[in-house]
Amino acid sequence: MIYVVGRLRKIMFVLEYKLKGKAKQYQAIDESIRTVQFVRNKCLRYWEDGQNIGQKDLYRYVTQLRKEFEFVKALNSTACQQACERTWTSILKFYANCKNKIQGKKGYPKYSKSTRSFELKQSGWKLDRDAKKIAFTDGKNIGEFKLIGSRDLYYFQDFQINRVRVVKRADGYFCQFLLKLDVRDIVPQLKPTQKCVGIDVGLKYFYSDSNGSTIVTPNYYRKSEKRLKKLNRRKSKKFKKGNLQSNNYIKAKKQYSKRHLKVSRQREEFAKEKALRLIQSNDLVAYEDLKVKNLVRNSKLAKSINDAAWSQFRKWIEYFGVKYSRLTIAVSPQYTSVDCFNCGKRIKKSLSVRTHVCECGYCEDRDINAALNILKKATTGHVGSWSEQLDRNAWGESTSTLIGVIQ
Ligand SMILES: [Zn+2]
Repeated sequence: MIYVVGRLRKIMFVLEYKLKGKAKQYQAIDESIRTVQFVRNKCLRYWEDGQNIGQKDLYRYVTQLRKEFEFVKALNSTACQQACERTWTSILKFYANCKNKIQGKKGYPKYSKSTRSFELKQSGWKLDRDAKKIAFTDGKNIGEFKLIGSRDLYYFQDFQINRVRVVKRADGYFCQFLLKLDVRDIVPQLKPTQKCVGIDVGLKYFYSDSNGSTIVTPNYYRKSEKRLKKLNRRKSKKFKKGNLQSNNYIKAKKQYSKRHLKVSRQREEFAKEKALRLIQSNDLVAYEDLKVKNLVRNSKLAKSINDAAWSQFRKWIEYFGVKYSRLTIAVSPQYTSVDCFNCGKRIKKSLSVRTHVCECGYCEDRDINAALNILKKATTGHVGSWSEQLDRNAWGESTSTLIGVIQ
């Protein structure tokens, strides 16, 4: 039986609309994005050149920049702040990696060359809910846009908007509202299903579960990949040395990034749908705590792994887990594919061996045996150590704050 004793309760929610306006307005957005990039890179340089520069110093520096440059001053102050905070986050991440002595690259903060967005906090924008319009009110003269999207704007209040982000993509300009909502206000909670499931993500199947079913990996990517490669080749052929590129190159580049976007959206949709279904039909979902980054280093497997979109899948499982108050547990992937689910004996097998056969008489598909082991790991012997695990952030980057007790 499962008791959920923790309380969760704020959830971040993103709503996205396409921005419809005039060419001049889009240029003004580009200009704002360039300014954000300018601020970010200036902050980074300031940190590199200085000694013991802290976050407060960076804030002060931004204030100075606003005095010094008219075009920085024209940008909404919270957007400047945001650029500064981003820089600081990447610096902190770098410090943390050094401190934890992680192997390989430490993620030294980079100068940004292709910033695609800017973010506003509580000021610099104004929503007109009836007309479904948003106006940007800082000195960059961006003006008012029509918001294209299905979701009604009355769905949320201004105070629930944590951030407004304007993003430039290959197929247009978008406005995202980052909402901070209380789960209980928005989500009808699901009834307990009294079912648990363990899932094993793999190369042959998108995942196999402990009930013995498998979900096939979607092939869009590989199908689209051919086309993608062709577009990429065309793009490279038209590339010229030097800075000035022909219209044909720009066109080819645009086609390529559009296709790329399409493929990644398809992948994300697939992962999202499967994750939602898992969460809706189970009280507990157990999966492996895979470090996809490490796996991807093996380049031969990399394509399939990226393709299968595991990390997106996990992100969505954890997201829906929080949203619907279901338990999601990441277990260590050690031995899950070699141990016999029936008797526990360790049976080594290479990747090509698809069936688990044990001397105890147990015989099962290799991935389903693994899924069963994953569920077993998640539901036994963890009770005392859970809060500790939470401290160590064993939940990965999940926003999940559930604490569970299993008997
Ligand atoms: Zn056995």
